[in-house]
Amino acid sequence: MTAVNRANPINAKSSDSQYTLMEFTEKFSTDAACLEFLWKRRFSEDGEHAHCPKCNQIRSFKRYESKQLAPSYTCVACGYHLHPLAGTIFEKSSTSLKLWFYAMYLMVSTKCGISAKQIERELGVTYKTAWRMAHLIRTNLMEQTDEPLSGVVEADETYIGGRRRGDKRGRPAPGSHKVPVFGMVQRQGQVRAMTVPNVRRATIFPHLQKHVIPATVVCTDELKSYNKMERIGLDHQACNHAEHVYVSGTVHTNTIEGFWSLVKRGIGGVYHAVSAKHLQGYLNEYAWRYNHRDDDKAQFETLLLRAAAGN
Ligand SMILES: [Zn+2]
Repeated sequence: MTAVNRANPINAKSSDSQYTLMEFTEKFSTDAACLEFLWKRRFSEDGEHAHCPKCNQIRSFKRYESKQLAPSYTCVACGYHLHPLAGTIFEKSSTSLKLWFYAMYLMVSTKCGISAKQIERELGVTYKTAWRMAHLIRTNLMEQTDEPLSGVVEADETYIGGRRRGDKRGRPAPGSHKVPVFGMVQRQGQVRAMTVPNVRRATIFPHLQKHVIPATVVCTDELKSYNKMERIGLDHQACNHAEHVYVSGTVHTNTIEGFWSLVKRGIGGVYHAVSAKHLQGYLNEYAWRYNHRDDDKAQFETLLLRAAAGN
């Protein structure tokens, strides 16, 4: 057996797209290093020259330390300040940049999520701070895109959260706190998932119109809300769960159901009870991991670029 190159079988499969803790620590262990990353990414490729809006030309900029003011770089010709954090989620935070970067790193380095309690322990911040950081990362940096789905798309509804069990079809029991969720996934592609007030046609169709390219084949279960999808220009194919025809050829919803079980296992295992108000953030987080699962770039780098892009 010549298993020479299989030194690290655990990481072998995903080694290209992972960002190791070692790499992270080398690059981002100080606030200055994190700030410089944002400065270069947003204003100055070489870290020294940037376009000064006041001089209206490329100038040298220098960083002057100041404890009171937001971190900035100053034009050496006219004194104009550029703020690398302006318009980012870090702008109004009193938490240090290196902790923010570390929280982002932690959130994309686990397969099934990390609790605020765990972030609290890792970062040495209060629970409230840890929760707020995770929440902003989910709702802002991991926000789902509007890039439309095509090919073969599976659409499905489910109910998530709350403590009471639904009936065997997954519908919420009376008085339960389960939240209706609607999702669409392109086979071999991306997923979109959102909380919805209900799963009626009038609620669901606008989401399909927004996220799916016309003439796409859309597979669903037999819920009546999905009928008449031709009216919005989609090619609807329903599979009949009630008659136990789960997989008739390519007409099935296995992919989206697989995504739902990831989300439910994750929320159950890591986050326990998630309030309806915050469920969308968690859906973003699971959709983010799913949508970036095959990235060439490490998910952490993708998230960093998203953070640097600002609001
Ligand atoms: Zn200037």
